[in-house]
Amino acid sequence: MAVRVGVVGGGQLARMMIAPAAELGLEIRVLAESEGMSAALAATAVGDYRDLETVRAFARDVDVLTFDHEHVPQDVLRALVADGVAVHPGPDALRFAQDKLEMRERLTQLGMPQPDWARVENADQLQEFLDDHGHRAVVKTPRGGYDGKGVRVVSAATEAQDWFTALAEDARGGALLVEELVDFRRELAQQVARRPSGEIVAYPVVETVQRDGVCAEVVAPAPGAQGRVAAEAERIGVAIAEGLGVTGMLAVELFETTDERLLVNELAMRPHNSGHWSQDGAVTSQFEQHLRAVLDLPLGATSARAPWSVMINILGGPAEGTLEDRFDAAMSAHPAAKVHTYGKAPRPGRKIGHVNVAGGDLDDVVYEARAAAAHFLD
Ligand code: ADP
Repeated sequence: MAVRVGVVGGGQLARMMIAPAAELGLEIRVLAESEGMSAALAATAVGDYRDLETVRAFARDVDVLTFDHEHVPQDVLRALVADGVAVHPGPDALRFAQDKLEMRERLTQLGMPQPDWARVENADQLQEFLDDHGHRAVVKTPRGGYDGKGVRVVSAATEAQDWFTALAEDARGGALLVEELVDFRRELAQQVARRPSGEIVAYPVVETVQRDGVCAEVVAPAPGAQGRVAAEAERIGVAIAEGLGVTGMLAVELFETTDERLLVNELAMRPHNSGHWSQDGAVTSQFEQHLRAVLDLPLGATSARAPWSVMINILGGPAEGTLEDRFDAAMSAHPAAKVHTYGKAPRPGRKIGHVNVAGGDLDDVVYEARAAAAHFLD
């Protein structure tokens, strides 16, 4: 009987696990939030991932449970582990991707390089941090943020008053995370994969470019980072995967400072936008690697197939019509570009697909990828 992988969450990350699952002959099932989601190409159940009985029923028929997102509550995850379900990554690792304050505390214990940070429970504590850090800082809600939502640059504590008010009204209480505003040269991402029995592999460190808090472009490997910076990024990625006991894919978002230090921004314990290039640019894509890792299979080679790979996100999409309407023009003009779409309707700012190009000359690869992606954006 085929090995069965259950993925909680029906977004594009689950969708992109389907092709490598089919290639390996794995059966993949998805617990989607609603009908018609990106991953509905696979056998799909629809239900609430916060409801224990729903997730329990879904997990009954799979050999391993993994995720398209990090939002399954800890009590649900722990009950499944107690039931004997193989959950990867497990709750003890996942909590550090679910809560940015817990992550900062644990990474401090592990001695990882990070921006200066503090836990602040009220405006006075935030003001104190601001006074100590040049009157500008980044305030973050510890949970539930993504694509820059829940992240705010402030120069006075009053600018986060609405978040403190929400905390005060929340019976569970809580705190905000405040970080120094890092003067970074660029953002990098380091991906590693780790299987439960301990094997670990690292991908080349990549450069990520964000626009309005959303990943727009990725260049692999990060230009100019082949030496010391690449080694340091890999050291950090491996240390975090081992230190937190991560299983599956881990992405570590990093800031490279103007004085060439690397600081950890945040973690994702699943395939990540910074690794989409690997579908067409690496020997083993991050989606195949994630499946191998959560099934405790030997991990695949992470080396690049070409000197350079560039990924451009299709954000928003065409003002009129569908992505498919643009296939003819894009594909005839850019036969080397690999187009990936997520089955999502165009909407301003929404991630609905991406384009990968790999090749030998960085300028050519960047040009091709941007020009191909532009067919889908207007
Ligand atoms: P999200 O969880 O929404 O992705 P992040 O914590 O990754 O939020 O922050 C989103 C973006 O905000 C980052 O990619 C970076 O550009 C910027 N940012 C976050 N933290 C800092 C910081 N301490 N200093 C400077 N910029 C930051």
